[in-house]
Amino acid sequence: MAEGDTILRTKHLLADALAGQVMAISAPSPRGRAAGVERLDGAALERVQTHGKHLMIVFGDLVLHSHLGMSGSWHVYPHGARWRRARSSAWVVLSGDTHEAVQFGGPTLRVLPSTRLALDPQLARLGPDILSPILNAGEITARFRATDQRRTLGEALLDQHLVAGVGNIFKSEACFAARINPWRPLADLTEDDLRAVLHCAREQMLDAVASGRKAFSVYNRRGPCVVCGDRVASRGQGDANRTTWWCERCQS
Ligand SMILES: [Zn+2]
Repeated sequence: MAEGDTILRTKHLLADALAGQVMAISAPSPRGRAAGVERLDGAALERVQTHGKHLMIVFGDLVLHSHLGMSGSWHVYPHGARWRRARSSAWVVLSGDTHEAVQFGGPTLRVLPSTRLALDPQLARLGPDILSPILNAGEITARFRATDQRRTLGEALLDQHLVAGVGNIFKSEACFAARINPWRPLADLTEDDLRAVLHCAREQMLDAVASGRKAFSVYNRRGPCVVCGDRVASRGQGDANRTTWWCERCQS
């Protein structure tokens, strides 16, 4: 599942393979053609930006905005390499001098004017990026305080308007690393508690950007807790009922 770490890795992959080059752009699947991505054919890829789980590929006055949701993915291949998925299912193919980058699936692929980025309803309301070069923890915790304090920590961590980039995996992993129960309401948590969870999420995700995801401590874990040996619990949480994993004994 793509979270902020996946998107930042994708940004590095795309920039290394394609930045500064003129792109040949195609849309093998109808979904890409519906987004009008072929308008970008022949434009130079200037740079790649991220904000949380959103990827923005800048072509001068136009931007290709992508969000992968739970099922989408980007692949980067040298020309001539065998693809791991069918070409006909690709939403967009960006083809440069030596490599091509391909998006398969996801909820969002669209072209918009770069001047609209700052005003776009999907993007403008996002909270600070958990992986921004300097973490703005104070603004994030202020947003956590401005929302309904009966909401649970696990649910709030997934709200991209409070903090952008944390998804279901690092929600559970960060709460476990900070030893805080994800079912506690925000009203019960101190500023230090919130900052501890945010810093754990950031550290784990930056580590995943640098060297790939490691084995998880609680996420999707069927065996006993790696620290205390008790059973790892799991249950759907929040309006979207996304499964949270935690250890009752380790996380108070
Ligand atoms: Zn435990």
